[in-house]
Amino acid sequence: MPKKFHTPERTCVFCKSKFPKKALIRFCLKEGTCIFLDENQKEPGRGAYLCSNCLSYIDKPKFFKKLYRALKLDKSKIQTC
Ligand SMILES: [Zn+2]
Repeated sequence: MPKKFHTPERTCVFCKSKFPKKALIRFCLKEGTCIFLDENQKEPGRGAYLCSNCLSYIDKPKFFKKLYRALKLDKSKIQTC
């Protein structure tokens, strides 16, 4: 098998499809309690990804449920940044 240039892939938390990391939106969990949008994908901490196809679900409760699950987070522990 020829060697391919490695493209980091991440799974969308909503549809579970894999995409190149750069094509996704990253959410970062800061200090275990606060989720924010990590535009540069460089923040330390646990991250979860959303693809552009699922962007319209971003304000739906179902999305947050999946996001919290992906980040192994208890909803009651969430704080505002
Ligand atoms: Zn998706």
